Amino acid sequence: MPVLITGGTVVNADRQFRADVLCEGGKVAAVGLDLDVTAGCEVIDASGQYVMPGGVDPHTHMQLPFMGTVSADDFYSGTAAALSGGTTTIMDFVIPQPRESLMDAFSTWRGWAEQSCADYTFHVAITWWDESVHRDMGTLVNTMGVNSFKHFMAYKNAIMADDEVLVNSFRRSLELGAVPTVHAENGELVFQLQQELLKQGMTGPRAHPLSRPPAVETEAVQRAITIANVINTPLYVVHVSCRESVDAIAHARARGQQVYGEVLAGHLVVDESVYQSDDFEFAAAHVMSPPFRKKSHRNALWNGLENGNLQTTATDHCTFCAEQKAMGKTDFTKIPNGCGGVEDRMAVLWDEGVNTGRLTASEFVQVTSANAARIFNMYPRKGSVSVGADADIVIWDPEGTRTISAASQRAKGSFNVFEGRTVKGIPSHTLSGGAVVYARGDLRVRKGTGKYVERPAFKPTHQAFSRIADE
Ligand SMILES: [Zn+2]
Repeated sequence: MPVLITGGTVVNADRQFRADVLCEGGKVAAVGLDLDVTAGCEVIDASGQYVMPGGVDPHTHMQLPFMGTVSADDFYSGTAAALSGGTTTIMDFVIPQPRESLMDAFSTWRGWAEQSCADYTFHVAITWWDESVHRDMGTLVNTMGVNSFKHFMAYKNAIMADDEVLVNSFRRSLELGAVPTVHAENGELVFQLQQELLKQGMTGPRAHPLSRPPAVETEAVQRAITIANVINTPLYVVHVSCRESVDAIAHARARGQQVYGEVLAGHLVVDESVYQSDDFEFAAAHVMSPPFRKKSHRNALWNGLENGNLQTTATDHCTFCAEQKAMGKTDFTKIPNGCGGVEDRMAVLWDEGVNTGRLTASEFVQVTSANAARIFNMYPRKGSVSVGADADIVIWDPEGTRTISAASQRAKGSFNVFEGRTVKGIPSHTLSGGAVVYARGDLRVRKGTGKYVERPAFKPTHQAFSRIADE
């Protein structure tokens, strides 16, 4: 059934304007003033509200096998939670175990994701290296619509990519026209700091941030930027959490390097003091990497978003329930790393970003959907309310309020890092592929309606090391 959204203000990354929006056949069919109501058309009155592209969360982990367990939200519950919060596309991660074939892992994740009710796409992690990985990266880019590869510089003895893997994979990404991304933490330093803290008897969550101080992140950010510069490839740094990392990215960009930074909603509003709690359950629930930081880093992250040195916001949604977190009751290094947020990111960003005057409504669209869609080549299909785009739309009620709580969330797990926060500005409706899937508290999702989004490669190049050769 066609849907006509009337009387609202359309907000895109570049401007906002009064217009009706007609959605038909899964696409935006018309944008303009006073569009005719056709027969059989569902009409949504959006007066006093904003009509914006649905959110793109470029970093989630549904159903992730990790640290001896599996994250609690599967692709159905996770995407349902996303839709209720106005996010209509998730970018999740295929993470092969070392020596596991990339293609096998890719088809495993594709299978799990078939139950999604929002659109989804995958970054693929490069966790080891040989000729088959080189070959499969090509197959993924050329036939499967993958244009980004993830590298964990942390998690030694598990999925960590060392310099050999990084350099080989960055070079291959360049040949293929794909974007290398990094989880930037020096895994060797983390490992040794963890051992040291345990030896000193620091076994609780309080030790978690001490094992991953900002310098551990900054070294890895700097190293990835340097490798990308030598090889002449772009770079996307996931979950930038501290001032020094923002500075490194800003410096690289000022030199002309194509480096992008992502920040998590959690890192923007939660600080390190959560790990000081004597309540293991509370402190462990906040264990994720990089950890929450001292308040001073939050300003740097907000400044980065405001001035464009950081381009995207994500959640790293990876929920574990209290029983799972309890696996690390006597050893903080065994607490499964991860927090939620996929259903709250948009509202938290609006409340803390737009209501405070840090971001305009258009800048909100940039950092919650359009920039991620551009960097990963889904724009304007995603991240834009324009004719021909996917009808993935959030109707935003700037006067609506909600108090975030684990008790009322749709995501699984009995915890929410934004617990108790009252946000002003919430979705009244979400459309996914032209269907109204959320309307004022009523979630109408069906398993399997989400589609896999293919992302074409950027222009490939064989000019590796050209930057050096030019000098
Ligand atoms: Zn992650």
